[in-house]
Amino acid sequence: MPNSDMADNRFAPKECRRCAHCCQPYFSLYVSAEDEARWQSEGRMDILERLAWERKNIIWKDDQPVHLATGEVALRCHWLKKDPDGTMACLIHATKPKICSDYSPGASELCIQYRKVREYIIGIDLHGTLLAPGEKFADELVVPIARELDRLKSKAVLWLCTGNDLSFVELKVPAPVREMMDGYVLETGCSVSRDQQTEEVITTWEERRTIKELEKLMRSMNFPELNYFAHRLTSISMFTDSPRPFYAKVKRIVDKTAYRDRVLVTYSSVAVDILPRGYDKHRGLSAVSDGRKTIGIADSANDLNLLLRSDYAFAPSNFARELEPVLLREGRKIAELSHLGSLEPNTLALAVAPETKGALEILRFLANHL
Ligand code: SF4
Ligand code: SF4
Repeated sequence: MPNSDMADNRFAPKECRRCAHCCQPYFSLYVSAEDEARWQSEGRMDILERLAWERKNIIWKDDQPVHLATGEVALRCHWLKKDPDGTMACLIHATKPKICSDYSPGASELCIQYRKVREYIIGIDLHGTLLAPGEKFADELVVPIARELDRLKSKAVLWLCTGNDLSFVELKVPAPVREMMDGYVLETGCSVSRDQQTEEVITTWEERRTIKELEKLMRSMNFPELNYFAHRLTSISMFTDSPRPFYAKVKRIVDKTAYRDRVLVTYSSVAVDILPRGYDKHRGLSAVSDGRKTIGIADSANDLNLLLRSDYAFAPSNFARELEPVLLREGRKIAELSHLGSLEPNTLALAVAPETKGALEILRFLANHL
């Protein structure tokens, strides 16, 4: 389990990734009489007070610890803190509960390293999948989604996949959900963030130059349906209230330029995007997959390859139905998630609910069946 002493007592630094996945939300679960006696002798009233508080205020309900008065479910132990490098540290490392000190990385399912290789990588789209219209993430769904991601973490590597950039993810995705992620595929697969702090562009210099030239042309044109150009490093993203018709218009213009063979025009539920040809979210996910089986969860036209090329594909009920003929033509079956008892290759499984609720349904299915 993670610790806070960077100099000499980092817990098994070569093996422990200091992710805190093995730390339960309430440390009181782990406390023995021996621990309490030690804290008494050490005069650690802060720990004893917290212990008394948890024992008075936390009850177990539906297999999880719940705050008696508010009904809230905590996701992190009170003694965890995030270090500047993004890893987690235990604030009471020197005297933490014996169960915590004795735990070895990889010793049980609690640890993300329990299985030597996490066999799957899951790519989860944002707009129309994790985010509902208006770029909303309903407050009441934050903890349930984070909890399912937490259950999945020892089985799969988790990446957000979006047409947006790093600052957008920071702004729109609640921290408990971001903290469960291993990284982000950004700008529809043209860049990635492995540390969730820096963006790593994977397009070539020539491709970026093409995009910048085309962006200049697009900015010089008059589009009444355009709301704004979003800031991008290596793609063009034009936000609009009517992506489908705007896409047709932009594509007709691009097809008439010399850039047509070097770029791809696509759209999501909120924007028309132009990318260097050959890039998409599935390519971005594959670039970081280390050969794992891919699982795509997405809904829109710019997610086509994530749904088509992933080993397993899932969508919330608001899935862009115009993609159906393409998927069927390529030999994918389309099935209702509620009818499946296990992962079905070559199948797009549709949730009953739309957007964030549909994503929750899918994550729960995966946590139960991977
Ligand atoms: S006391 Fe420390 S090691 Fe134990 S669960 Fe809490 S943060 Fe993790
Ligand atoms: S889950 Fe494993 S890798 Fe992560 S902090 Fe715990 S022991 Fe370390």
